[in-house]
Amino acid sequence: MPEKFDVIVVGAGPAGTACAYVCAKNGLNVLLLERGEYPGSKNVMGGVLYRKQMEELIPEFWKEAPLERPVVEQRFWMMDKESVVSFGYKGLEWAVEPYNNFTVLRAHFDQWFAKKAVEAGALLINETVVKECLVENGKVVGVRTDRPDGDLFADVVVLADGVNSLLSKQLGFHKELRPDEVALTVMEVINLPKEKINDRFNLEDNQGCTIEIFGDSTQGNLGTAFLYTNKESLNIGVGTTLSSMIKAKLKPYDLLDYLKNHPMVKPMLAGGESAEYLAHLIPEGGYRSVPKVVGDGVVIVGDAAQLVNAIHREGSNMAMASGKMAAEAIVKAKAANDFSASRLNSYRDALYNSFIIKDLEKYKDAAHTFEKYPQYFKEYVPMMNKAASKFFTVDGTPKRDKQKDIMRSITSERGTINVLKDMYRAWKAVK
Ligand SMILES: Cc1cc2nc3c(=O)[nH]c(=O)nc-3n(C[C@H](O)[C@H](O)[C@H](O)COP(=O)(O)OP(=O)(O)OC[C@H]3O[C@@H](n4cnc5c(N)ncnc54)[C@H](O)[C@@H]3O)c2cc1C
Repeated sequence: MPEKFDVIVVGAGPAGTACAYVCAKNGLNVLLLERGEYPGSKNVMGGVLYRKQMEELIPEFWKEAPLERPVVEQRFWMMDKESVVSFGYKGLEWAVEPYNNFTVLRAHFDQWFAKKAVEAGALLINETVVKECLVENGKVVGVRTDRPDGDLFADVVVLADGVNSLLSKQLGFHKELRPDEVALTVMEVINLPKEKINDRFNLEDNQGCTIEIFGDSTQGNLGTAFLYTNKESLNIGVGTTLSSMIKAKLKPYDLLDYLKNHPMVKPMLAGGESAEYLAHLIPEGGYRSVPKVVGDGVVIVGDAAQLVNAIHREGSNMAMASGKMAAEAIVKAKAANDFSASRLNSYRDALYNSFIIKDLEKYKDAAHTFEKYPQYFKEYVPMMNKAASKFFTVDGTPKRDKQKDIMRSITSERGTINVLKDMYRAWKAVK
């Protein structure tokens, strides 16, 4: 190993690997450190990988990457105890190249992606935990690992160590995360024969479906559940912010059990065999939780920089895009032989001019609003279900009378002024 690297990347998730890949492609001497047995061995994701940001790194990656199914249908369920109001979109333009997004199993995908970084010239070392950053005169100069003689040096250290980034906390870039800034999600991979998946979700072999489930899936608390199709398995999971979980005294595994036994969900899983149980945090603080992302000799990318758009369940794409932007800034810094924060700030500029920060800024009040005013999940979802049931039950009542009756029951349950206020507040939070 050389004594000093151009770049040390900590964490071989999508953010770190994207950064390592682009740096290596540009001829930099890159070390990628991963604490897991292999990249992906410790990583958890509901499973939707977005084509656009991955394609910007590896064109036509779908021809060789270990993907599960291209997603052709996205459904949204507003679920009550024994009913569901559903809507969504299915389009066969997503069933053909270049596709829109894919379901993936991270243990397979991350390994393949890291192999691409290695082929581009990065050195990957697994089973190595970075304990701290080495700092000299205010500049990060390397990392201390858990290996004997484990101090390693570089011009730039990239922190891609995920949501609970101990390293950025050590550098004082962010504080301990508050319970309302993270969601705790548990998920299970359930094996099911391909034919059953295709029949139950109305799919062909190379087509996938995602279902996001709100309302009773989190027992009315802020959060969502998901059910995604892989080739021969389903990913099912549920999560709420830690603060909601604490307030409502929920246990994550009880929530998942409740979901799996819900009458709207159970038939979709019938006959399946549990293959894996996983739990992970998701950074959901959004715009206001994004820390300082650049320092002297250091940049922070992906979940470590809290770059997740929870409303659109986008995280892996933001991780990759931020990793790529950081790499481009590092390549420029190398050309100028200047690794100061002011030079590396071109990463910050790119990030703030990109869809990432623009989208986080757009939804900056959303999580806070929906947590502070629990009626959206607790009251409106059951109301929507009751209204749909009333409207679609054929009982001889004229439709106009039904409409009036539905409006009357909504306004009498919440009050007309409150309904208007709730609508305005929700619109403001997502506008
Ligand atoms: C249940 C769940 C469902 C999700 N669903 C989706 C989805 O459908 N679509 C989507 O786009 N996003 C989704 N996300 C979010 C997405 O998983 C993350 O945004 C994404 O993985 C972030 O990538 P990352 O590389 O920043 O971090 P990670 O993927 O967390 O990778 C961090 C890596 O760093 C390693 N590491 C950590 N500390 C150290 C250390 N000290 N030394 C060495 N290595 C270290 C870890 O082992 C890991 O490999 C979901 C997340 C969860 C938890």
